[in-house]
Amino acid sequence: MSTPETTPSLTLQVDDDGIALITFDAPHAPINALNSRLTAEFEQIFAQLEGNDAIRAAVLSSGKADTWIAGADIEELVSIASAADAEALSRSGQRMLDRLAALHKPVVAAIHGACLGGGLEVALACHWRVLSDHPKSVCALPEVQLGLLPGAGGTQRLPRLIGLQAALDLILTGKTVRPRKAKTLGLIDDLVHPAILRSVALQRARELAARQRSRTERKSGPTAMLLEDNPVGRAVVFRQAREQVLKKTRGAYPGPLAAIEVVAEGYANGIARGLDAEARAFGRLAVTDVCRELTFLFFATTALKKDTGIESDTIPRPVHRLGIVGGGFMGAGIASVAVQHDTLVRIKEASLERIAGAIGVVREGLDEKRRKRRLTRLAMDDALARVSGGTDYTGFTRADVVIEAVFEELEVKHTVLREVEAVAARAIFASNTSTIPIARIAEASSRPEQVVGMHFFSPVQKMPLLEVIAAPATSDETIATVVAFGKQLGKTVIVVRDGPGFYVNRILAPYINEAGALLDDGVAIEAIDQALLAYGFPVGPITLLDEVGLDIAGKSGAIMVEAFGDRMVPSRTLTRVIESGRTGRKAGRGFYTYEDGERGGPDAAIYAMTPVQGSRRSATADEIQERTVLPMLNEAVRCLEDGVLRSTRDGDVGAVFGIGFPPFRGGPFRAIDAIGAAALVRRLEALNARFPGRFAPAARLRDMAARGERFYPSTGKPL
Ligand code: NAD
Repeated sequence: MSTPETTPSLTLQVDDDGIALITFDAPHAPINALNSRLTAEFEQIFAQLEGNDAIRAAVLSSGKADTWIAGADIEELVSIASAADAEALSRSGQRMLDRLAALHKPVVAAIHGACLGGGLEVALACHWRVLSDHPKSVCALPEVQLGLLPGAGGTQRLPRLIGLQAALDLILTGKTVRPRKAKTLGLIDDLVHPAILRSVALQRARELAARQRSRTERKSGPTAMLLEDNPVGRAVVFRQAREQVLKKTRGAYPGPLAAIEVVAEGYANGIARGLDAEARAFGRLAVTDVCRELTFLFFATTALKKDTGIESDTIPRPVHRLGIVGGGFMGAGIASVAVQHDTLVRIKEASLERIAGAIGVVREGLDEKRRKRRLTRLAMDDALARVSGGTDYTGFTRADVVIEAVFEELEVKHTVLREVEAVAARAIFASNTSTIPIARIAEASSRPEQVVGMHFFSPVQKMPLLEVIAAPATSDETIATVVAFGKQLGKTVIVVRDGPGFYVNRILAPYINEAGALLDDGVAIEAIDQALLAYGFPVGPITLLDEVGLDIAGKSGAIMVEAFGDRMVPSRTLTRVIESGRTGRKAGRGFYTYEDGERGGPDAAIYAMTPVQGSRRSATADEIQERTVLPMLNEAVRCLEDGVLRSTRDGDVGAVFGIGFPPFRGGPFRAIDAIGAAALVRRLEALNARFPGRFAPAARLRDMAARGERFYPSTGKPL
């Protein structure tokens, strides 16, 4: 019997016409990925193509249902120990694809399913590309999302095929290209119905062999050519690309910047020098901290996809029907996501106008997808038909899950819970509360084992995280069901224990409060926001307050003080601004000014509410980051101590996907490891001496400092 090591991944069959069909089907694996073992197999196949006179051309296809080639084997990538090893891996991939590109016999890529990273680089080295017109057929070079760049010739072949600007757009963002776009870009030559993919590919192979067709030439429009076909124009394109990258990443991600240099080298000095630069850059990037943290997050989210959220093997219940009570900002967002994931939704609201409003939000979401050609008109109408609503609980009887997204008041939630339990006999009751402990809500329940928290983040349509909150009485079946349901909705799900602020809002509280304390000290609004943008957050804390709404922040703050006392007391400025009735962006008045929905500068009137008057104090970005980020890290450790978090992995993923903690830092626990527990304790103690009570290091952190421990092993696999 053959083992995975001896069973080949590549097989070759020659038809009567002399066309070889090469099938890539990695044994015992759900997808096809490239690894160094495969190089030898590819070399053998190439030798057969060259050596067998009966073969005139070949078609490369996949034996997997949904993937052509999903990219390089990331497990192998993370096991790389040095820049030299990574560079060697890149050179070996380049050599293999150079050989493919240089074959005298044409090879046609017959692509159906994911064609990503190294997979797309294989396709680029082929002499013709046929793609199936199917939603699963997606092309991308996502290497930058792991802190790398395409290392098997992609930085050289792609611009030569589709033009410089279009290629940079794909290489620098890692964005996914769908079939029609792939055709317009010239990334593929033929777009065909999946049923005729193979026959068209075979036909093209015959035509190429008979020289009835010539191999793909670069196609690009006249404007692009004008700009790209001369060194001056290209210099402009490269400069603009660099500026854009720096604006977006603030220089925190070396991958895209290196990719620009490598592409430029290829244009300036030819493909051989470009490939050399590509391999060296790949080597350098593979051992950076950024690459390590991004691959950690990749593995952590992959692991979460398989995590059921419970210890036991209780089977989750299927969820087809969802009831939503409250179709406001959050309820409508949840409905929008649910119908796009095949769930039947019934909304209960206070009035028909509000129902219409919620359904309008659902329609707008679908229409946007249709405009971007992610949905056909028919699919849009189907999805829209899945949502309905009313002012009573009609349609709730058969609901599998009911999510409440009504006002953040315990009494309102209790009333709704009782009403739902009276009509929906089997339904799980999930609250989208952002602050009220689930156990408090469950006090009104006759079946508390079916009460759980599903904390979505706003805007629900965009934010990838779902925090599932398990109260002491919540059953495993309930947890497993909502975790599976969350994944069905496309979310990354973490399960946390019940408690004030749960996890995400709890670590946010000291961070926001400390930003407020800096205002008390006379530091300028924009200085605070700028410092945290520089740390890598997508928005600064003061902007975040305006976005979330100061009224909501005020309520949440009060709950945190009640639960945790002094260390969560909001600053005087924050309290005064909230009391002044400003609510932030939604009402056009917050820490910043707003005009016609556009944000202006900081509102000078805020400074009249700070305890410090007159000249403002300046603070360095380091000082601001130290005061705001360190208590957030400290609070994350307390969440682990308290058992709110099941693991550091959940804490890291939750912070990155829930509040935009800088991905290149991996998450709070990864950031603590980078600082070192002992150094962090020293720095927190120094702050605590200045501001007693707010920065006392968590006990676990002190223990770790004393023992020289880390949260994650310093070498080897990231998980
Ligand atoms: P919202 O005011 O936009 O919506 C609440 C809706 O509930 C309103 O449309 C109201 O008419 C409706 N409602 C109230 N009582 C009802 C009842 N008895 N039956 C039917 N409908 C009723 O509020 P929101 O921002 O969507 O927040 C809803 C919940 O989500 C709150 O618990 C909030 O804490 C939580 N949450 C909000 C955010 C956020 O950023 N806004 C984020 C996470 C969680």
